[in-house]
Amino acid sequence: MRKVLITGGSRGIGAAIVRAFSEAGDRVVFFYHQNHTAAATIAAKTGATAIPCDVSDPDAVREGLAAARAALGGEPEVLVSNAGISHTGLSRDMTDAEWRSVLDTNLSAAFYLAREVQGAMIRASEGRMLFIGSMWGKVGASCEVAYSAAKAGLRGLTMALAKELGPSHITVNCVEPGVIATDMNAHLDSKALEALAEETPLGRIGAPAEVAAAVLFLASPAAAFITGQCLGVDGGFAI
Ligand code: NDP
Repeated sequence: MRKVLITGGSRGIGAAIVRAFSEAGDRVVFFYHQNHTAAATIAAKTGATAIPCDVSDPDAVREGLAAARAALGGEPEVLVSNAGISHTGLSRDMTDAEWRSVLDTNLSAAFYLAREVQGAMIRASEGRMLFIGSMWGKVGASCEVAYSAAKAGLRGLTMALAKELGPSHITVNCVEPGVIATDMNAHLDSKALEALAEETPLGRIGAPAEVAAAVLFLASPAAAFITGQCLGVDGGFAI
């Protein structure tokens, strides 16, 4: 039974990751932001512990981690940094606050978490870190400039941390979803979703559980020699 910390576990892909690790018999704590009802529902269904924590704030991350350690009965052995937000619009219209919010939530949060959990992993000489990026971090999305930049930043974070932490037997990998059916895409009408499915070589959009399966694999003993990689779970969209 591993001790697993997942961010953004109240909904969508994060909730599927909470379910996957819980079903695998691991002890799971997840962070969420504001959606107490959704968090309580996932916690009740899985037995995981839900903790409110704004991961874009480094002080909140330190506080959240103290609560997570108490709930886990020790240090996280697996970190899944999944929480994210998107922002759609022309780059010329984006405010400083909007830019910072997207970068802080999607990129800086992953760094804050990785910084805080690595000490214990180094002492234990093992650990797994997983970041949830996006295919847009690989190929860029028009009208999602900050999001694409943040997710591209996760690629650099993954590779650099993998080199820095490899000697301590800690693996660091990134999973890059394509279009997945979650609230993040709820603003898209059925026509737009159909067009995205058509653009996907496998001809459909993905399910949160399909992303969770890749995360579970990269955290498993079978993936012990895989580090610094970005794995697309995108139906071939970003080939
Ligand atoms: P959702 O919008 O469905 O869920 C977002 C989750 O992140 C919620 O649990 C939310 O908590 C949490 N969250 C948001 N901001 C914060 C914050 N500041 N602090 C803590 N938690 C926060 O998103 P998805 O499940 O679709 O996305 C999950 C990840 O996958 C993201 O990183 C996203 O960029 C990435 N991704 C998603 C794709 C998709 O098509 N859906 C495609 C590619 C990548 P709360 O419920 O409290 O608001």
